[in-house]
Amino acid sequence: MIVVMRADAKAKEISDVIARVRANGYQPHLAESDEGTIIGLVGESEVPLREDDYQDMAGVARVERVKAAYKLASRAFHPRDSKVPLNGCLMGDRKVLVIAGPCSVESRTQIIEMACAVKEAGATALRGGAFKPRTSPYSFQGHGEKGLQWLAEAREVTGLPVVTEVMDPGLVPLVCQYADVLQIGARNMQNFTLLNAAGESQHTILLKRGMSSTIMDLLMAAEYILACGNQRVMICERGIRTFETATRFTFDLNAIPVLKSLTHLPLIADPSHGIGLREHVEAVARGAVAAGADGLIIEAHMDPEKAMSDGRQSVTVDGFIRLMENVRRVAEAVGRTA
Ligand code: PEP
Ligand code: MN
Repeated sequence: MIVVMRADAKAKEISDVIARVRANGYQPHLAESDEGTIIGLVGESEVPLREDDYQDMAGVARVERVKAAYKLASRAFHPRDSKVPLNGCLMGDRKVLVIAGPCSVESRTQIIEMACAVKEAGATALRGGAFKPRTSPYSFQGHGEKGLQWLAEAREVTGLPVVTEVMDPGLVPLVCQYADVLQIGARNMQNFTLLNAAGESQHTILLKRGMSSTIMDLLMAAEYILACGNQRVMICERGIRTFETATRFTFDLNAIPVLKSLTHLPLIADPSHGIGLREHVEAVARGAVAAGADGLIIEAHMDPEKAMSDGRQSVTVDGFIRLMENVRRVAEAVGRTA
């Protein structure tokens, strides 16, 4: 349920509503809207939700039930776009921000070279996995903490903030020491222990959609993090499993406008995993930006054929430079920059 205050509501009237929400056993969640302050009721209480408790209070414009199971992630609770700070910019603002780098951190020189290259091309943040979720236990699993140290060195050289995956709730504190943004991967989107640990860290989170998860599942997963009081959450469409075998996954372009309408959270598109084919990553990136994505996450590699993971979908440095130029044109065509 939300209580929408009138635009001219006095501070005392707002605090009276907040006090009654608390007295009824709910946590109040405050957001601003064009109409006025919105007070969302969160949590469980023995006192049932009753419109009558708030409807006639001074300064209240209206009281509304929120049917969706997700609350803090919803536009009803939080009508305005959330903006998440990243490298002096805001993800969710007018500029489309690009996170780029290799799938895996392979060596110290590799990650530093790639960081310099993607920065030069206009990336806002560096990606690279140190803990890799691999389908086969025999595949390269990542360099672990050494990889995190190399990422931190690459940040020192370039100034680019680091986005890297954490797979284990017990490793959240370690990854937080090195990373600016914790990535929760598709395979862990519903690892609720991990979502809680990431939420509690109060670190910025990039939450990727599970490959077999619905849009609703993704929003509920985001809700776990938000419910920990962590508002710095970015969500990511990275492709879903369909019957199609010509591409690695099926990038769900539909999810972009649908998510933008349902949630205020900044939305990133991952065309690399979404299609899995280097030669088509740029086309999907352009489509995602045209459809309203706030950011992109792109896998790029100096020598993709020799990459230790996801080489087939990694663009070359030249490919990344071209992608940036063309995405910029599309961004401008839809009233944004890149
Ligand atoms: C990745 O970003 O390299 C990755 C493993 O992504 P996802 O979790 O979307 O598969
Ligand atoms: Mn990858």
